[in-house]
Amino acid sequence: MSRLILKVAIDAPLRHLFDYLPHFNQPPPAPGCRVRVPFGRRGQVGLVVAHADHADVPDAQLRHIHEAIDDAPLFGAPLLELLRRAADYYHAPPGEVLVGTLPGLLRAGRPAREQVDWQWRLSDTAPAPDTLGRAPRQAELLRALAAGPQAQSALPVGSAAVLRTLLDKGWVVREPRDASTRQDPAPPAAPALTSAQRAAVEAVLAASGFGAFLLDGVTGSGKTEVYLSAIEAVLATGRQALVLVPEISLTPQTEARFRARFGQAVAVLHSGLPDGERLAAWLAARSGRARVLIGTRSAVFTPLPALGLIVVDEEHDASYKQQDGFRYHARDMAVLRARIEDVPVLLGSATPSLESLAHGRVGQYRTVHLRERAGSARLPRLELLDVRHQRMSGLVSPALAAAVREELVAGRQVMLFLNRRGYAPVLLCHACGWVPKCQRCDAHYTLHRTRQVLLCHHCGGERPLPPSCAECASGDLLPLGAGTERIEADITALFPEHTVLRVDRDSTRRRGALDAHLSAVRDGRADILVGTQMLAKGHHFPAVTLVGILDADQGLFAADFRASERLAQTIYQVAGRCGRGTQPGRVLIQTHQPQHPVLHALLQGGYGVFAQQLLKEREAAGWPPFTHLALLRAEAPGAQEALWFLGETLSLAAELGHAGVTLLGPVPAPMPKRAGRFRAQLLLQADRRAPLHALLRSWLPAVAQLPAARKVRWSLDVDPIDTY
Ligand code: ADP
Ligand code: ZN
Ligand code: ZN
Repeated sequence: MSRLILKVAIDAPLRHLFDYLPHFNQPPPAPGCRVRVPFGRRGQVGLVVAHADHADVPDAQLRHIHEAIDDAPLFGAPLLELLRRAADYYHAPPGEVLVGTLPGLLRAGRPAREQVDWQWRLSDTAPAPDTLGRAPRQAELLRALAAGPQAQSALPVGSAAVLRTLLDKGWVVREPRDASTRQDPAPPAAPALTSAQRAAVEAVLAASGFGAFLLDGVTGSGKTEVYLSAIEAVLATGRQALVLVPEISLTPQTEARFRARFGQAVAVLHSGLPDGERLAAWLAARSGRARVLIGTRSAVFTPLPALGLIVVDEEHDASYKQQDGFRYHARDMAVLRARIEDVPVLLGSATPSLESLAHGRVGQYRTVHLRERAGSARLPRLELLDVRHQRMSGLVSPALAAAVREELVAGRQVMLFLNRRGYAPVLLCHACGWVPKCQRCDAHYTLHRTRQVLLCHHCGGERPLPPSCAECASGDLLPLGAGTERIEADITALFPEHTVLRVDRDSTRRRGALDAHLSAVRDGRADILVGTQMLAKGHHFPAVTLVGILDADQGLFAADFRASERLAQTIYQVAGRCGRGTQPGRVLIQTHQPQHPVLHALLQGGYGVFAQQLLKEREAAGWPPFTHLALLRAEAPGAQEALWFLGETLSLAAELGHAGVTLLGPVPAPMPKRAGRFRAQLLLQADRRAPLHALLRSWLPAVAQLPAARKVRWSLDVDPIDTY
């Protein structure tokens, strides 16, 4: 007898779907619907992925679902397909992908219904408020509504009961607050596109169905205007647009530009939102009420029934890669989604990733260039500052200090960049050489002087600043090296008559602090900005004319094969913050390695030429994008377990055979001990993806079965972006 089995994904670290029978007297839920199922002691919310006619478990183990939560699928077939392919490609537990990417409230079983936002208005029979002298609260509400419809939240607190009375009398009407009744202010006039911008927009709009475009445009070249213009055209045909941005909180200006242009058609989705707002944005996208969805990486998995275009801004940004749990790359998922939904995808960057450049080279992506800045702004000049033998004030050379002074005197702004927060990366006893180290990591504590603590940047552990040496009790403790806090102090001492503003994770921890800092810069209330990577992200500060990169050498000595690419991207992104107004910009890069080939190549040819050279090196060395990687990581409380476990997985792979895949390791991680656990890794490298994925498919289930797998924490990272 044929019967119906539901294949259900459950958010658990198990690599398979679970079989259930439908409810006795409910119609079977369709694929894409959530169900509540018996699972473990408390039951779980799962997602039906497919219907089948046979079960993978014996009949005695088959159970009925408790109930169906949704009567219609949460999303259409294309998104379900994307999620299924993503789980397959990343070899992730299906539940982690299909259920884990839903907004938290949906994972908890909350109905997927849009909350209606009610408003109140006067009916035709409402009396004049002045005739209600005996009912002052009723009169007050009628007066409040006389000006026009009001949201309940806009009416005086405690109005609910009075409103009900008025409703009973037929004097007021309650109705859904429809977006169309609210008026958006007229959008600002869009600038006339340059011919290069127009060509880019036309290329994207000319795509019939899928097409991947790389918008390779220098900083300030008007990429955002290209997105806005292409989206406008897509909306005009009744379709929706998805815009991915790296970290929305760092670039409130981008969100503001989209809102100014598209008003209430915009919904925003990122992990900083309260659960309710996240769900509301997700539902608005799904119902089609939101026409433009702007979001960080997980927004790529939001249902958009009329999707017409995907934009990935700053496509090179590392924050598109999820680094724990379901380790996906949102840019790659965006391209896959565009392919499945048969729509164009536009990847934009001033410093494209080598992956995207390689795709561009072989024609998989079509590259469109914006080689000049929009408007009257010019690209800044980059110069190396040889600081050898210089008498430094902290990390600032005399030449840099002089250049800073020159700009300040002219009333312009300066930005100093150092990718290290805190006061000093090391504290040292001058008497005996003792250095306080984190007990849980192979790392020194960073001194944070404002907070008077030692902080481990790897596990977050902190302890109070010791008054004296733990070894010899000397009080002579020296901070060694410099972070942004120290630069802030040094610069304030050098330019006491000017305002210095520090922008890093510590100075922007309070809610709203970053916005306050950014507007202080824009309003000219700060003369000198000192900051980390946070300052490099897409900001538009027209009065900044000088950027100082305090320590370029940091990036020259990193072990990771992506270090040069990252360094180049950082330098060009930071540099891109200056000279965006009417005054030209200048970028001074301090180094002790003025002859270093990487710095030379970077300055001579610009990012594009440099990147092509890096691609040649990657090809010669057999690194991505010319080979494909997967990294099996393991960690355990003991020093050896992770290595032993990986050793066993290596033997398993040997038994299975792994033609076409090289296994490197196992080796301890570059930082072996972190947060109290010892970490090790095994790298898989292959010239082609097919044999790599074939091996992973047969190997991982066997790995999961190893007795040692239960004693370690392990994870697989397909296309890892670092091996840290
Ligand atoms: P990007 O995204 O490439 O950094 P933006 O789109 O932010 O560049 O543009 C940089 C600046 O140039 C913005 O102030 C923008 O308003 C302006 N701009 C962009 N396109 C044009 C244009 N066609 N004409 C005049 N100004 C423009
Ligand atoms: Zn000492
Ligand atoms: Zn630590």
